Amino acid sequence: MPPPADPDSSLIRGDAIMEALKTARGSLARKEAPPFEVRRAHGSILVDTDGKQYIDFLMGFCVGNLGWSLPELERSAASFDGPDYVHPELGYAPWDELADLLVEMAPRKLTRCFRATGGSEAVDLALQAATIHTGRSGFLALEGGYHGNTIAGLSVAGECDALPHCRRIPLPLDARALTRIERSLARRDVAAFVLEPVAMALGVMVPEQSFMDGLQELCGRYGTLLVADEVACGFGRTGRWFACEHFGLEPDLMCLAKAITSGVAPMGALLATASLARTLATKGSAWSTYGWHPRSVHVAIAALEYLRRHESRLLGHVDEMSEHFRARLARMRFQDEVRVCGLAIAIDLGDEDRASRLQEKCRRNGLLLDAQEERLMLMPALTIDRGTADAGLDILERCA
Ligand code: PMP
Repeated sequence: MPPPADPDSSLIRGDAIMEALKTARGSLARKEAPPFEVRRAHGSILVDTDGKQYIDFLMGFCVGNLGWSLPELERSAASFDGPDYVHPELGYAPWDELADLLVEMAPRKLTRCFRATGGSEAVDLALQAATIHTGRSGFLALEGGYHGNTIAGLSVAGECDALPHCRRIPLPLDARALTRIERSLARRDVAAFVLEPVAMALGVMVPEQSFMDGLQELCGRYGTLLVADEVACGFGRTGRWFACEHFGLEPDLMCLAKAITSGVAPMGALLATASLARTLATKGSAWSTYGWHPRSVHVAIAALEYLRRHESRLLGHVDEMSEHFRARLARMRFQDEVRVCGLAIAIDLGDEDRASRLQEKCRRNGLLLDAQEERLMLMPALTIDRGTADAGLDILERCA
């Protein structure tokens, strides 16, 4: 028999959380049938099961940064001859090799790595580490942000209230926002400030340098850790390996996933300072059965070596294409704000229906892009050639 309804019972509270989760962004509950089924993908092109081709400006939302079916990664995946699986308590040299590669690329203070299967798990690990390390239970984040679909990530983003001490800072990120943050941090109950340094979830919102300097200083002053969620921005999306680099931001924890393998295999990672890593390893629970599966590790190493081998050409190309997208979008005279940071691009249309209608029209005409609330998001491959970019932009121009 179900227990009697009691407004104070944890059951009711659980129901409320489930209600909130149902409406949460990122919920897996699909309202409509998928628009098409994917058969294959190469470079910046997706092909559906009817043979129709689409230019891909979505790239799995910041997953396929090196383009689909990159020969070097295909060859690497096919050549894997390691073990099927390694138990997390055993040693595996490629784990250390991959950790070293990530640490070499990452901001200075981050010298340790934890294995995860994806972005949500990496964020959740960061929140766990911050809570244990500081002995505090509060979190601060940006209003409207997104940090994965664990109950903790959703709480931080304000999509549910399972973690009770999460607060958010509304935009704009100006001097008043810093005052608000200081008021919050001064209570000394905030374990971490969590943000995407360039906020994809807020439509490529790039904070001012003065805000980031202020945030870093306030976090240091009040003992609040800084968590950089680079799940979407990581590995070159904004024109630097990590969005933190635009501001010289030195986070205590950094969450990675998505483009770490350019889509060839699933993976997530948490990078931490040495002292936070010690706390998480000794007092926390960082066990991940499928975290850094040997096949994923093999491909991630190949992807990161590719990035490093081609660093100047790749990032130079991102700069060049970024300017090209910016110039062409400016000529299209969207009356709305267009924000471009590397190849992270948002067009604010100010109207949710208009955004989803335009997305749909582009798709029918062979161009994939994302519609998030009232804006369109373009995240082309970092390797996209000018001809393909122009063909996609031509479709957008005709449909707009
Ligand atoms: N953080 C950010 C900023 C993201 O964009 C995402 C995924 N969209 C996540 C966390 C969660 O990553 P995953 O879907 O791999 O769990």
